[in-house]
Formats: sequence, C-alpha cells, structure tokens
Amino acid sequence: MIGTELLDRVVGADATGWGVLLCAPFVGSFLGVVVRRLPEGRPIAWVRSRCECCGTALRVRDLVPLYSWLAAGGRCRYCGHPLGWFYPGIELSALAVALAALAVDGGEMTWLDCFFGWWLLALGWIDMRRWLLPDALTLPLVIAGLAAAAAFDPEQLTARALGAALGYLSLRLVALLYRALRGRDGLGHGDAKLLAASGAWVGAMALPQVVLGAAVSALAAAACLRLAGVRLGAHSALPFGPFLALATWLIWLLGPFFI
Ligand SMILES: [Zn+2]
Repeated sequence: MIGTELLDRVVGADATGWGVLLCAPFVGSFLGVVVRRLPEGRPIAWVRSRCECCGTALRVRDLVPLYSWLAAGGRCRYCGHPLGWFYPGIELSALAVALAALAVDGGEMTWLDCFFGWWLLALGWIDMRRWLLPDALTLPLVIAGLAAAAAFDPEQLTARALGAALGYLSLRLVALLYRALRGRDGLGHGDAKLLAASGAWVGAMALPQVVLGAAVSALAAAACLRLAGVRLGAHSALPFGPFLALATWLIWLLGPFFI
C-alpha cells in the first residue's frame, strides 16, 4: 500500500525528511507571495505584510502557514474579510510536493526534488492564474537544471544540455506550425522556455514523454471541465504550463514511464 509505505517513510524520516516537511508550508507561503507579486512586478518580500482588504499590518502570529488561516477560520482577524483558499492551497501543495519527494526518493536528493518541485509549482500556478510563464522563473530553472547535472550527474550533462535546446526548439516549431495552419497562437514563448527547463532536468530522451504526459493530462482536465459543465470551444484553451510542470516533475521523480 502506498499509504502505509508513505507513513513509514514519514515516521522513519531522518533529519533531511523532517527538514523538508517542516520547511514546506513556509516555502509554500513564500511561493504564494511570488505567484501574486512577480507577474505584477511588485517587490517580493518574505512576508505578506498587510491584509489586502483592510490594510492592517499583519503580525508574526498572522503569518504562520496553515495554522493562522485555520485559527482565524479563513478570515482576516481584523476586518473579517474572507481570505480565500489561495494561501492554504499553495501551502498544502508545497507540503504535498515534499511528501511525494520523501515517499519516492527519501534520500539525500530529496532537497533537490523539492527545490525543483516547488519551483515548478510556482510556475504552473502563475500560468493557471495569469496565462504567463515569466522569464524570471523559466530561464534560471534552465541554468539550475544544468548546474544540478554538473554537480550530481556529470555524465548526463550533455544529454541535459541537448534536452534544453531540443525542448525550446521543438515547441517553437510546433507553435510556428500551429500559427501557420490555424492563423492564431496556440502555444506561447513561455511554454517553449519551460520545456527547455524541463529538458535541462530530465534530459533529451525523456522529453517526448513529458510532452505526451502533459498533453494527456491536459485532455483529461478538459474532459473533466466538460463533464462539470464548462464549455471549451475551439477558441478557448487551457494554459499548458501547469501540465508541462506536472509531467516534468513526475518524470524527474519516478523516471521515464517507458524507455
Ligand atoms: Zn483585513
């Protein structure tokens, strides 16, 4: 059972394991700030300092991830304005990333799995909210992938550099073809840069599976939306970034689904 195995891993976690689990909600909280502020060009400080409704400066006890939200019943303690699910949602997602990394990997590389997963989480979430994959996040992720290869897996460095190049070029080519055939943009530049980052982490050989996994999960999501009564026509679309991010991280964590 995956559940019992996960429980065993968590209970038997070493310092690394507990470190990622304890950090995860705080990282999630920080990612929330990045997701909200980066696309607007607002400065990113560690804490969200004011209630966005009443403007009251928040104290440390208002900023404890998950706990503050639960303790105040999901409302601002000062004005009662509902805080919404955004912060607890991203804090729990960051915790889920840490739990998955711990369950699957559990070794010294757990920090790297989490670092990559948290970064992709922020990118996917921004794309979901804003239809945007900022260069400030995609480009450093390409460099981080190659640096991680150089540090931990030097034999794979060439394959991963090739992956970055092929990732970018292949989606640019698809985007140009789509534009030529349909006369409108179907894929953004950001998607190509995200796939470049993906290639820099999982390598050239795994890239087709990333694209396939992302396409299948996007179709599944579209089918679910349709079942839920949301109509998606030929001229509406889903952002592709969250699906690319998810497929990339799963392949990084679990290895290619088929060789
Ligand atoms: Zn307030």
